[in-house]
Amino acid sequence: MSVDLVLCNAKAYVGKKLVDCSFAINEGKILKIGKEANMPKAETKIDLKNLLVLPGLIDVHVHLRDEGKAYKEDFYSGTAAAVAGGIATVLDMPNNNPVTMSVEALKNRMKKAEKKILVNVGFYSEFPKKNSEIEKIVTEGAVAFKLFMAEQVGGLNIDDDSALLEAFKIAAEMKVPIAVHAEDRSSLKEAEHKFKRANCNDIHAFLKAHSESVEAKAVKRILNITKQIGAHIHFCHVSTEDGLKVIVDEKKKGTPITCEATPHHLLISSDELKQIGTLALTMPPIREKHHLTALWDGIKNGWIDIIASDHAPHALEEKKAKTVWDVKVGVPGLETTLPLMLTEVNRGRLSIADIVSLMAEKPAEVFKLPNKGYLKEGYSADLTVIDLNKKYRIDASKFHSKAKYSPFDKWTVEGKPVKTFVNGQLIMEDEEIVAKPGSGQIIRRE
Ligand SMILES: [Zn+2]
Ligand SMILES: [Zn+2]
Repeated sequence: MSVDLVLCNAKAYVGKKLVDCSFAINEGKILKIGKEANMPKAETKIDLKNLLVLPGLIDVHVHLRDEGKAYKEDFYSGTAAAVAGGIATVLDMPNNNPVTMSVEALKNRMKKAEKKILVNVGFYSEFPKKNSEIEKIVTEGAVAFKLFMAEQVGGLNIDDDSALLEAFKIAAEMKVPIAVHAEDRSSLKEAEHKFKRANCNDIHAFLKAHSESVEAKAVKRILNITKQIGAHIHFCHVSTEDGLKVIVDEKKKGTPITCEATPHHLLISSDELKQIGTLALTMPPIREKHHLTALWDGIKNGWIDIIASDHAPHALEEKKAKTVWDVKVGVPGLETTLPLMLTEVNRGRLSIADIVSLMAEKPAEVFKLPNKGYLKEGYSADLTVIDLNKKYRIDASKFHSKAKYSPFDKWTVEGKPVKTFVNGQLIMEDEEIVAKPGSGQIIRRE
């Protein structure tokens, strides 16, 4: 018997440790992990030359755009950015044009994506207007719901606690996670109006409006609503010491909630934001130094479950505006997240086991992605191959993403994804895309 592919001379993270091994891959799955001598015959054999091999990494917070926002990013450019960054699976956010919040919108999005994607793509949906649609959207294959609390995006009235409770109940019954962008709309808008009236339109005013308490307030509100029903809430991009503390206190009670942090909230402080300017403007915004310390402590102590990019690309001209309130918030992150985190491994702040847990195992577990997150026989042959010693400067002008800017532009990083395999197929090699559009697969919730 001959298999599709054998990868030999890997230093791979298998069974919680790094081992020297080879992989036999057939029909998109890992058939065998073991010594090279024990591998079956293969159509193709690739020598990985002792490079580090991790389970194909998963980014649970990505805005792939396309459709009405294709000028910012499309399914091809976004998933090309993913593979270039060593990411094999992404979960796509619903704030699109049209918003993903109906069976029809989800179906259309999947159909368009299918022909263009290079990685595995799962889809979030916003909550629809009618609760009766929730089940249908899940049956169509949405992997999770998203609740954006900073302004009204989906069909569910974000100011109505009892409406949120009813919608959460249905998601809880169906065991679908709910990802929450926690910033309290009313406090946010009130502060924003106050600053606008006073003609305060700079980054300083933006940071004050998106204060620490705006995040903590929203987190508390959601926890109060879900207390009784046990819905699985996943807090996106936690950015403040206070917000994280509320989450940790709840976790200590055994409530099944999870949370994520982004590289920009972990690595850039508000002093640096003021220097970089509106290009680095995000929601929630980049914070003062003590928040960064709190987030790193959260990772060290295992309270933060996931690292995700919140890849949110925009056209460059949208990142500049007369007033800060008109700047589009968000930065691309698919091509920088892994190199930045590998740099932290080389600095001793993270271990390889941390990277695998935060960017593969936990994402697969929290979002119930079957056969992903681990290098195991029978699992998807998604592999991220890394040169841990490769030092280079981030050059945003060379991004595969349409958004050719980054708050990390010109940063020197150490550690680079050099090959990405998705379902047994080599998709990226040395920054080049070596597979056809449509090589990726849509992930539908089972
Ligand atoms: Zn968000
Ligand atoms: Zn986002």
